[in-house]
Parts: sequence; structure tokens; C-alpha cells
Amino acid sequence: MSKYELPELPYKYNALEPIISEAILRVHHDKHHSAYVNGANAALQKLEAGRESGFKDMDIRAVERDLAFNVSGHMLHTLYWQNMTPKGGGTPGGKLADMINESFGSFEKLKAQLSSAAKQVEGSGWGLLVYEPVLNRLMTLQIQNHQNLAIQGSVPLLTVDVWEHAYYLQYKNDRGSYVDQWWNIVNWNDVEKRISSHRRA
Ligand code: MN
Repeated sequence: MSKYELPELPYKYNALEPIISEAILRVHHDKHHSAYVNGANAALQKLEAGRESGFKDMDIRAVERDLAFNVSGHMLHTLYWQNMTPKGGGTPGGKLADMINESFGSFEKLKAQLSSAAKQVEGSGWGLLVYEPVLNRLMTLQIQNHQNLAIQGSVPLLTVDVWEHAYYLQYKNDRGSYVDQWWNIVNWNDVEKRISSHRRA
């Protein structure tokens, strides 16, 4: 059976300083992300055991919930790491910029919308920019935990983690400052790469 694996960070632990501290990246990647990978594999293993026993004595509701939570957590963290770079920030160009303008009116409006969604997540979650293939446009989502308030079939492109573990050691309760600073390390090349393989002409 294939298993999920924790990916290496695409940069050093101190590479995103001063915006995200080395201490945060170490615990965030090595402990938190790692726990979601392990949780995802554990849920898959429980389902495998369930198939052997005919799902007797199994709380499949709990296991499926664990699976969705942990796999989504793994996917979003993997995206989040790749969405950031020490030489990030600025504004997107090319087809991505066109699509942002078509979908939101301007880059500044996207920024205001995604920032607002991220800052106002109730409890733990994510601000997420997705490509929605039916309307062939971009949308923002306010994800709770890792898996709730998603749109099925949409493609995640850019995300900011607003769980307290993503900023609390450095920004304390000031999630707003963390989100505002985060824009300075966004890797627009990575976002552009993701949209180019999906967008219709
Ligand atoms: Mn996280």
C-alpha cells in the first residue's frame, strides 16, 4: 500500500525570516504537518482493517472524518510551503494577472478579499484561492479546519494557514499582521504554474 510522506521544505527553516521565524517553521513542518501525514496514513490503515473485518465494530463516520481532515491538512500544508519563497511578493503577471482581473476586478481587490477571508476564519483554518473549472474562474474560500467549506472539484492554487500554530509564537494573537506580512513572501511563479495546467483557453 502506498503511503503519504512528509515532503522536505523547499527552503531552509530560517529562509522566510523575518516574516515567518525559524522557530515557527520548525514546529509547524516537523510536528504539525508531520502529524497530519501520520493521521492520514492511520485512517487509511483503519479502513484497510475494516475491509478485512467487514466493518464490524468500526465507527466509520469517525474514520472517514479523520481521513478527510488529515489528508486535506497534508495537501494544504504542502501547497502552503510551495506557495512561499524568500524572494516572493510583488504582483503576479501574465495569464494569472489576466485571470485575477477577470475574476476579481483587480489584484488589489483579490488581495482585500483573500485577506479578509483569512483574517476572519472562525477558529482554525485557511484562506484559499482556487480555480473553479465550471465557470473557468478564480474564487476565494474560507476553509475551516482543513476540509470544511470547500468547493468540490475546485483546484487549490494559493493558501495562507491561519491556524494559531502558523503565527502565534511570533505574532501572538495578531493574525491580521501575519496575513498582511505573508503577501511579501508569496511565490507567484508557483501559483502561475498551478493555474497554467488547468485553465481553459
Ligand atoms: Mn498549519
